[in-house]
Amino acid sequence: MTFKMSYLRKLLMGLLILLDERELDPIVRKKADVSYDFIVVGSGPGGATVASRLSEMPDAKILLLEAGESDLKDPRIKVTTRARELAKTDIDWKYETEKVSRYPFVDRTFSIPRGKTLGGSSSINYGAYIRGSQHDFDSWEDSGAAGWGWNNVEPYFRKVENATMKGMSAKLGKNGNLKLSRNHIKPSIAWNLFTEAAAEIGIKPTNNIDDMEGISPMTFTSYKGIKQNSVTAYIRPIQYQRKDRLHIVTGALVSKILIDTKSESVARAYGVEYLKNGKYHTVQANKEVIISAGVIGTPQILLLSGIGPQEDLQNLGIPVIKNLPGVGSNLQDHWFNPVDFMTNLTNPQPVGNPMMQYILNGTGLMGMDQHVITIFRKTRLSGTPTSLSSRRRPFPEIQLYLRERPTLPSMSIFAQLLHPKSKGTIKLSSKDIRDYPVINANFFGHEDDVRVLTEGFRLIEKLEKSSSFQRAGAKMVMPANCNGSIYGNPPRSDKFYNCLIWERSGTGFHPCCTAKMGSRSDKYSVVDSHLRVIGIKGLRVVDASVFPHQISSNTQATVYMIGEKAADMIKETWQTSKV
Ligand SMILES: Cc1cc2nc3c(=O)[nH]c(=O)nc-3n(C[C@H](O)[C@H](O)[C@H](O)COP(=O)(O)OP(=O)(O)OC[C@H]3O[C@@H](n4cnc5c(N)ncnc54)[C@H](O)[C@@H]3O)c2cc1C
Repeated sequence: MTFKMSYLRKLLMGLLILLDERELDPIVRKKADVSYDFIVVGSGPGGATVASRLSEMPDAKILLLEAGESDLKDPRIKVTTRARELAKTDIDWKYETEKVSRYPFVDRTFSIPRGKTLGGSSSINYGAYIRGSQHDFDSWEDSGAAGWGWNNVEPYFRKVENATMKGMSAKLGKNGNLKLSRNHIKPSIAWNLFTEAAAEIGIKPTNNIDDMEGISPMTFTSYKGIKQNSVTAYIRPIQYQRKDRLHIVTGALVSKILIDTKSESVARAYGVEYLKNGKYHTVQANKEVIISAGVIGTPQILLLSGIGPQEDLQNLGIPVIKNLPGVGSNLQDHWFNPVDFMTNLTNPQPVGNPMMQYILNGTGLMGMDQHVITIFRKTRLSGTPTSLSSRRRPFPEIQLYLRERPTLPSMSIFAQLLHPKSKGTIKLSSKDIRDYPVINANFFGHEDDVRVLTEGFRLIEKLEKSSSFQRAGAKMVMPANCNGSIYGNPPRSDKFYNCLIWERSGTGFHPCCTAKMGSRSDKYSVVDSHLRVIGIKGLRVVDASVFPHQISSNTQATVYMIGEKAADMIKETWQTSKV
């Protein structure tokens, strides 16, 4: 047998994945230097992208600080199908919301997983890549984010993307850092069932990129079965070449931004304080500090630094440097709800050994991506006065997706609320960075959110009534607390769906908007349209916190896009300015 080089390479790659390389990550330094031009806090899609692009400036010296440790520590990070196992491990911050005591919850809290490792939440996420609707970004612009309309952001999406497979949308970029593919196992019986039922009820096929509304297989941030996170995509390929000017320190929990309030008329950020191995350190930034600590970490750091709602800061005895009421407000997420079905279908037995198939070819059950097919849909409320968009932009408000299980006969369809009107808050619990902030998700706090999600359930009912579902004997499994019997037939009452929401809803993992971008005249804006923190020089935010409002899709593509656009804005400032 001739042993091809490509097999050898794949085998070595597989072995690397299986090895625990805890102490062997060559891109991580033990200590930071005394000062840098730019300090970036957080290595998720926002931070890694901006740090990598800033290091293209030959004279700039950059420090990337990350609270978590190397992403090589846990090999499951590289396998999309194992992402689910990473919640509640050491690489998850394990945030919980405040208790909700509204009927029928009794003191229920909700988990909000967030990645605490190099790559941030892109290390523990499920890898789906969708840009969002162009109406989302036009609506951002309507709301005061000048220069963030679709025509402005679309080139930056393309800059991110590297579509690696034939048959993907021609609009996707081909030369970007983030490798994209569609790594699905076919044929899949559940997939065929979902697709046929969708066609029967008039949902048109699309590909999410050319036209969002319709049914489409999802695109993933994986390449030959290996999931890409922000560090694989943006840092590792350049790190050796730029190791003298891009330094990375892990295990560094940033506790405060250092701000000079005396030397100039406007306060200026000049560095950060961080906690590592039980000791506080400071490091100086000669040009800018960029906070990319995610939707919870970013407001926490700003608040601890005296930037936020004056009264809250004073109550904790934190000196107020800038009264910005929007810091930590405006928290929005996608809330989703699984609907389970039993069918009379069975999947064929997988052929071969899944582990060997994965190691050799990135295929097989382990190399498969998740919830691979999805429907985006406007509701009757889209584009009406009850819709969130200030100009009634017609973006989709409901997403359904199929969670394929290798274990038919059961399968789930998830209904996801894309534009919740309820808004939550992040507030400090103490002056200590180690104490988690208080997260009030205000889960379904607005009655329209229940109405819109119920429209999603009605759409599932239509699928359920299709002849394809009937032939497959698909029956919805009712949660016992909402209905005495196990199965039930459509149409079901609004009361039943209300109960289902309270019983089964959870985060769709896409929180955003806690340091929103907007015009300086809006008192809730935290950053301007150049992502500069209002009222503080030398300080920007580059992550999912700056979304003015939630978008119609999974969020990581948009955060990468923000990282790319931010880097250009920062370069423009420093390449043309002598400040
Ligand atoms: C379980 C899960 C599944 C998801 N699935 C998908 C999906 O399939 N598709 C999709 O598009 N999106 C998905 N997402 C969402 C997506 O991952 C996020 O939108 C994206 O990662 C946000 O990027 P970010 O840079 O804003 O923040 P993050 O990725 O959260 O990165 C923030 C970083 O800052 C670090 N940090 C925080 N505080 C500090 C501090 N004080 N000091 C130093 N460092 C700090 C964190 O450790 C982290 O590394 C998922 C998220 C989760 C959690």
